Amino acid sequence: MFDGAKKVVGDKFVGQLSHYLSHNPERNIVKVTNMLYKLAITDEHKRQINDVQRLLVDPDSNWRELYLSTMTGVDPRVRNRLMVNFLVHSALLGLPQQRELEAKLGHGVPWAILIDPTDRCNLRCKGCWAGEYTHKNDLDYALLDRIIIEGEELHIHFYVLSGGEPLVRRDDIVRLARKHHDSVFHIFTNGTLIDEPFAAKCVEAGNITFAISVDGFEESTDSRRGQGVFQKVMHSVDILRQYGLFYGFSTTYHRNNVEEVCSEAYIDMLIEKGFRFGWYFTYIPIGADSDLDFMLPPPSGPTPMRESMRCGKPSQSLLLTSGTTGRLLTAVSPAAGVTSISMLRERWSHVRLSTMPTAISMK
Ligand code: SF4
Repeated sequence: MFDGAKKVVGDKFVGQLSHYLSHNPERNIVKVTNMLYKLAITDEHKRQINDVQRLLVDPDSNWRELYLSTMTGVDPRVRNRLMVNFLVHSALLGLPQQRELEAKLGHGVPWAILIDPTDRCNLRCKGCWAGEYTHKNDLDYALLDRIIIEGEELHIHFYVLSGGEPLVRRDDIVRLARKHHDSVFHIFTNGTLIDEPFAAKCVEAGNITFAISVDGFEESTDSRRGQGVFQKVMHSVDILRQYGLFYGFSTTYHRNNVEEVCSEAYIDMLIEKGFRFGWYFTYIPIGADSDLDFMLPPPSGPTPMRESMRCGKPSQSLLLTSGTTGRLLTAVSPAAGVTSISMLRERWSHVRLSTMPTAISMK
């Protein structure tokens, strides 16, 4: 069943997909989604692709807006490689292959693996669990490489890198990404170590994405992460944008910033800076200078997070996910009715993480 599909995902498939995406991606939406439909093995994936196609051809859909802005704003080497790696290797082929393997092995196979390549970090944010670490430990390149070789044997093509600050190891990360060019490397980073030479290497690799830590506007971000960090991060974001890389934000919400990071002004600022997706994490008081007062009280009635799901403007698009619950919240600004994807945190990896998009429903 998989061999035939695998053969299709050769150079010819990638070349054809790239051609459609590079030449009028708007007009070629149907051709691109039809190609993906042909590759889909499961009925569930076929149904999801039909839903996606319907949304992408709808001129009022925010998903179409997100797709078109990605096609024009992201370097072709990056968007084409990510599309093949994420949609094809990781999802359409990877997930059914993993389910087949699970039946054979008798245990779960994760969809993604989270790796902390280092516990070192150049910042010292309040309440960071990494603050308790020694700041001396690295996983060496050979071990990182071995994890990914073995992961790919299990058809895992999505690797999340966290830390510490993973970009302390940026040369090794680029080396890994180049070697494992069928996988996606999603880096949770404080953003302060990104410079132009690194961005250029990431574009060449094509398979690296970023979730940049931002905890609100300048004052809120700096109060947790340190004076001047917000401006440094915004400079890095400008570099990522200039080089056509694909990036989102990672926001930790707590008692003091929850209203701010759920406000339309905050989301507008992020969209303006070219962020295309975002993760929200609940503040957990462990690590350096952790402060129990930062914790959110239990919700009574609608919470700002829930309210934020309804905010946004029809002309703007951004994908929001909840890293804490593993549930993808919604796309901001659903222009036509409700748009949602649910990610169920079903299969936990022995390594650390597996959030698996088992059910995608779009209305
Ligand atoms: S939160 Fe991230 S950037 Fe801040 S100290 Fe911890 S690892 Fe470093």
